[in-house]
Amino acid sequence: MSDSAILAQVTARRQELIGLAQDLIRIPTLNPPGREYRRICDYLAERMLAQGWQVELLRATGSPGDSDAYPRWNMVARLSRGPGPCVHFNGHHDVVEVGHGWTRDPFGAELDGDRIYGRGACDMKGGIAASIIAAEAFAAARPDFRGTIEISATADEETGGYGGVAWLAERGYFSPEKVQHVIIPEPLHKDRICLGHRGVWWAEVETHGRIAHGSMPFLGDSAIRHMGAVLEEIEARLYPLLATKRTEMPVVPEGARQSTLNINSIHGGEAEPELGSTALPAPCVADRCRIVLDRRFLIEEQLDQVKAEVAEVLERVRARRSGFTYDIRTLFEVQPTMADRDAPVVKSTAAAIEAVLHRLPDYVVSPGTYDQKHIDRIGRLKNCIAYGPGLLHLAHQPDEWVGVQDMEDSAKVMALVLADLLD
Ligand SMILES: [Zn+2]
Repeated sequence: MSDSAILAQVTARRQELIGLAQDLIRIPTLNPPGREYRRICDYLAERMLAQGWQVELLRATGSPGDSDAYPRWNMVARLSRGPGPCVHFNGHHDVVEVGHGWTRDPFGAELDGDRIYGRGACDMKGGIAASIIAAEAFAAARPDFRGTIEISATADEETGGYGGVAWLAERGYFSPEKVQHVIIPEPLHKDRICLGHRGVWWAEVETHGRIAHGSMPFLGDSAIRHMGAVLEEIEARLYPLLATKRTEMPVVPEGARQSTLNINSIHGGEAEPELGSTALPAPCVADRCRIVLDRRFLIEEQLDQVKAEVAEVLERVRARRSGFTYDIRTLFEVQPTMADRDAPVVKSTAAAIEAVLHRLPDYVVSPGTYDQKHIDRIGRLKNCIAYGPGLLHLAHQPDEWVGVQDMEDSAKVMALVLADLLD
């Protein structure tokens, strides 16, 4: 059976693809807190079972946020035709909060022209729908394929993926003995292959002081002034240093093609008054001040070195300020990851994009992380990419949408990847 027969099977499922995406968007799987996870997994399980797939429903008991009120459910479906490689499509089923500014019903999945609107439309229920239709179309055109197709819908990607892909990876679901190729249909656009992402280090820095009456600050020691000195040192030394660190990773947007640092928050002294409070503040010298750093690092950098740069900033301040003490604590860290351009799933996807869209793909790297980190670090699987329909800049925005033609085209690409890898 030729590729054109497979493509025809996808085209024939266009209405089904629209309906499937709409059904998924209409289940409001908001995270936090983690609503309706069981319902979306049941919906998908029923669909896959009816078509002869084996299905597992797995609750990530004990993972962050898991409770009887908000259980962390995951679904893994498998269609096996005996020995051969396994191609796995992984999509997260959770969506972020709605936020303000919508002109459409965020869970209405309204179809208007080529667009389906709703929270999660592009990130990433459109991608889940496209991968399912791709697999079903391929299996219909090539019932005697070699190997296994897996589709998972997993929890909590938006909050780190610990109740989803990380939990499954720890239980061997992404071990290289079981799974050889992974595609995550995140909204990277139908003509781009996302090879990986930069690394992340989040750290909290706290400076210490001594409380005293604000009218006699010389009797205390201000943690806020100490933090001010830290921020000055960061401005004078760290930012210029980071600007010199460029990467060969094809990160998009271009501005993220270097090391970056964001100061997420600063808190010092008295707590913020409650909204609407008319009370006056009390005069006190701040005895502590905290900042949270969000450092994104490159595949050319070592995490130890990234941490050492911040330690050096703090030590320089300590050397010149009397009474300066601090604590530093890592909150979160993720290594950068990047598949090789000649990895099998990359080459196969590139060829499929060329066949369907008649153009060469762009290779990109994401500025922020997604579930590929767990597949690489815990699952030890490098042959993994993100590829799927939708525009990344629409993710998490009001009036989020996914294009029907984009979904259909990327489903065709994914179906041809299956034909190539499971032939
Ligand atoms: Zn996503």
